[in-house]
Amino acid sequence: MSIQSVAIIGLGLLGGSIGLAVREQTPEIATKGYDRDPAVRDAARKRGLAGTICDNAADAVRGADLVILCVPVGAMEQAARDLAEHIGPDAIVSDVGSSKQSVAEALARALPGHTIIPAHPVAGTEQSGPEAGFASLFTNRWCILTPAKDANEGAVRSLSAFWTKLGANVELMDAAHHDLVLAVTSHIPHLIAFTIVGTASDLEEVTRSEVIKYSAGGFRDFTRIAASDPVMWRDVFLNNKGAVLEMLGRFSEDLTALQRAIRSGDGETLHELFSRTRAIRRQVIEQGQDDDRPDFGREDHV
Ligand code: NAP
Repeated sequence: MSIQSVAIIGLGLLGGSIGLAVREQTPEIATKGYDRDPAVRDAARKRGLAGTICDNAADAVRGADLVILCVPVGAMEQAARDLAEHIGPDAIVSDVGSSKQSVAEALARALPGHTIIPAHPVAGTEQSGPEAGFASLFTNRWCILTPAKDANEGAVRSLSAFWTKLGANVELMDAAHHDLVLAVTSHIPHLIAFTIVGTASDLEEVTRSEVIKYSAGGFRDFTRIAASDPVMWRDVFLNNKGAVLEMLGRFSEDLTALQRAIRSGDGETLHELFSRTRAIRRQVIEQGQDDDRPDFGREDHV
């Protein structure tokens, strides 16, 4: 099925970016949007985040070929329940949640009998809300679809084609594997950033003003990640608990090994690890997943 109309539920960073990307990349697809917050709906109308901004979710999903839930992971089930009786029998229901196993289960509970293809565009920023979205957010980023084994193949193809039109590279993955991969590539890095920024702000020996004043030494790059939306990230950790705890165990062991190397003056271990990590940074740049300018393109780098 070729997707002609899309309903976007939740008009923050992700929902807004999908609406803007459709308008720019594939304007023949009609979009309707809904957010539960009236102020967000007003802002969405002003920015044209969807062709029509509806004042209730039922109007947004009625007649849509594709319904995409762009709400925090912990809000998916209720949002889906509120829509259940209004979504057409042939519509594809998808989402953009950052964890996939729990969302797939929540959507299956809320929408029995519907065609559900969960997805996660691995693209974002630390900004949130209706002013944060932009049309190129998905360009050359991966969008991971996690269809169940018995998912409708035509629906998977249609959703893949949709994300490809928005500029993303599409990959299919088992939901449990997705959660493990994202635990190590996204969730633990965020947890580390939240921790280090929290630790620095609690220090007694070094004042908070010194931490901020000298932040260009590395700390400020963590503050960017640690400024991410608190609701979104609370929900990610509560919903990807198993994979995060498993990867955190591995991380703690590696951290203890480094602690031992520093204590015992084992420079060889430190140098070997730092050389490997530098090579990984080069690969990230070679694969077009980051800017190769020093300090991510900032001019006042240290
Ligand atoms: P966001 O900017 O905070 O937008 C979410 C919007 O959804 C908010 O306006 C929120 O309103 C609204 N909402 C909440 N419950 C709703 C409901 N039941 N019905 C309608 N609207 C509802 O968040 P985001 O960054 O776009 O994240 C959305 C999803 O994308 C999350 O599942 C997240 O895991 C995933 N994701 C995020 C990123 C990222 O970098 N941010 C990247 C990839 C995927 P209220 O403020 O009133 O709650």
